[in-house]
Amino acid sequence: MKIELLKGDITQINVDAVANAANSSLLGGGGVDGAIHRAGGQKILEECKEIRNRQGKCKTGEAVVTTAGNLPAKYVIHTVGPIWNNNEEECSELLANCYKNSLKLAESLGVKTISFPNISTGVYRFPKERAAKIAVKEVNSFESEIIEKVIFVCFDDENEKIYKRLLE
Ligand code: ADP
Repeated sequence: MKIELLKGDITQINVDAVANAANSSLLGGGGVDGAIHRAGGQKILEECKEIRNRQGKCKTGEAVVTTAGNLPAKYVIHTVGPIWNNNEEECSELLANCYKNSLKLAESLGVKTISFPNISTGVYRFPKERAAKIAVKEVNSFESEIIEKVIFVCFDDENEKIYKRLLE
């Protein structure tokens, strides 16, 4: 799997699947979640509501899929990152699960290219360096015959610097 780093708005990038840092309600929120729902349109929220009606809230570390509405993608993979707290080990494991479960789901859908935002590093306050190390480790250790490219999309300078260094 090839790994790429891009700086900017994840809603503008052409891929098969966009990962979304959703919250457990699946009903949209601020940050990247808000940006994806705004750019993708009503269709995504409608499908999220159907998923909620079917299976309830999405647990932290798990992932669900919807179509991508108006985004330049086929799917949005909504995964719920952990809110950073004192239980550092548990938070780290849950964040690793986000990447792992999103990649597994992507693979099952035949996705060749997938983009990830820096999950949990916004309002969920996960330390950026630690989060980036987890993200890179999970993607590097995921073996896939189907997924060809993973794009880490950094929105802020700090994350971009960290990912640049880790991916060198
Ligand atoms: P979380 O609740 O998981 O912390 P946030 O959306 O608050 O989610 O932040 C996650 C990351 O997404 C942050 O690093 C933030 O800078 C980034 N982000 C916000 N908007 C966008 C966007 N349009 N495209 C890509 N990344 C974004």
